[in-house]
Amino acid sequence: MAARLVGYGHPGGVTVVGAEPRPAYHRALLGSVLDGTLDAGRLALPALPAEVRQLTGVRVTAVDRARRTVRTGDGRALPYDVLVLATGARPRVPPVPGLETGPGRLAEGVRAVRTAADCRPLSEGPVVVLGGGIRGVETAWALSGTGQEVALVHPAGHLMERHLDAAGAAVPAAWLAGRGVTLHLGRRAAEYTPGKVVLDDGQVLAAGTVLLCTGTVAETALARASGLDVREGVVVDALLRTGDPRVHAIGDCAEHAGAVGTTVLQAWEQAEALALTLTGRQRPYAPGRRVLRPRTPGKDMVVLPPAGPARPDNTDGTDDIDGTVSLLDRAGGRHARLVLRDGRLHEGAVIGSPSAVAAVSRLYARDEPVPADLLALLTGADGAYAGDGTLPDEAVVCHCNNVTGKALKDAWHRGAHDEAALARATRATTGCGGCASVVRRLCTTLADDGDDTPAEGATP
Ligand SMILES: Cc1cc2nc3c(=O)[nH]c(=O)nc-3n(C[C@H](O)[C@H](O)[C@H](O)COP(=O)(O)OP(=O)(O)OC[C@H]3O[C@@H](n4cnc5c(N)ncnc54)[C@H](O)[C@@H]3O)c2cc1C
Repeated sequence: MAARLVGYGHPGGVTVVGAEPRPAYHRALLGSVLDGTLDAGRLALPALPAEVRQLTGVRVTAVDRARRTVRTGDGRALPYDVLVLATGARPRVPPVPGLETGPGRLAEGVRAVRTAADCRPLSEGPVVVLGGGIRGVETAWALSGTGQEVALVHPAGHLMERHLDAAGAAVPAAWLAGRGVTLHLGRRAAEYTPGKVVLDDGQVLAAGTVLLCTGTVAETALARASGLDVREGVVVDALLRTGDPRVHAIGDCAEHAGAVGTTVLQAWEQAEALALTLTGRQRPYAPGRRVLRPRTPGKDMVVLPPAGPARPDNTDGTDDIDGTVSLLDRAGGRHARLVLRDGRLHEGAVIGSPSAVAAVSRLYARDEPVPADLLALLTGADGAYAGDGTLPDEAVVCHCNNVTGKALKDAWHRGAHDEAALARATRATTGCGGCASVVRRLCTTLADDGDDTPAEGATP
């Protein structure tokens, strides 16, 4: 947001105040730090422009809207013309006796993975992951790859029940079981004492560490205390304004059109829209279609959230979906379920087939009509994904930031010849980071080809 403001020529000063001891970083990559596959030093985002004043390790404790100042924990009063709240979210702690020693204070051996500080080495002994949504599956996957003993406890009867049906969820469940993760589905943690978790059926699980993957709550305390409208998040309109036209909110703390919680891509889109609005080019925020790509390296999975609300315009009051197409190949570890509306993808999930994941993600994100041969699409046989190792121009490489093969190649031809430069130029790799290997491979391929001629349409 701050970088965008400067980029768009905001004439006044910009100050970023952050409670964490380091500048903003790739939060979505924290799981990789926890499992030791990524050094915490590599989480850094590109440096902010020199014009931005950055205060790290400083917490804002109050907003005085009448005087237009924010107060900080270290005793400062910072004046503002425009205030942007981007306070994110905090972990949701389930009401299990023993997990907290006081409000917001986790007991010894219990932690969430929300900040870089949460990624310190784990204690000795097994890890119990509470929660089997996307974050829980990712966390159990990552830790089991390190040889860690992992148990996952989830109250629903199957994993990721908000996104997958039981048949689909059986595939990642089998992947996790294959890595030695013990799944306790349909079970709740009933009590925690350091070293053990007791389940609601009386089973006792040894727990060196309990990791909370039980969702997040929008961080709204400042907004609430300053009298702004807060429901689940800080309520904003299409211009990301709160009821006070000088105060805006974006990212995980904001509630836009009744929806709270963002993906990295949506947070970027909001920052972009607000930076344009604040520099005089009024840009209402319209959420784009975004896919969710759980990070289970080596196994592909995409979830397509419902694209818009149900439309009960059939005479029987049901939604006007065209139908649902499902494929289950249990032996091959593949599953797909696609709900179609008006000949396009409305929602669904594809698991276990890299080519189908790529093709379906592209069709959904662009809201393009599905091909007549749906089976070919789901088995990845429609040729949309380049299995020969070439990167098609239209392939979306970074799903978090919607960066295509063409955008990357163009940036490379303009001089961005390594991963960091391509990240700065296109934002690829700055979301979940799952595309970093593709970006690196593209750099190697283009360098090996000695191909430095500008791609069609590129500005040299
Ligand atoms: C482990 C993990 C994996 C994830 N994986 C993905 C993924 O694969 N794809 C995806 O799209 N999203 C993912 N997410 C979600 C994504 O990280 C968030 O949507 C994104 O970080 C939201 O950005 P934000 O700026 O709104 O909030 P945050 O990134 O949470 O930043 C908010 C900042 O505000 C600071 N703050 C809060 N209150 C104050 C105060 N009073 N004073 C000063 N500073 C304050 C906080 O300390 C924090 O540093 C993941 C999140 C986690 C934790």
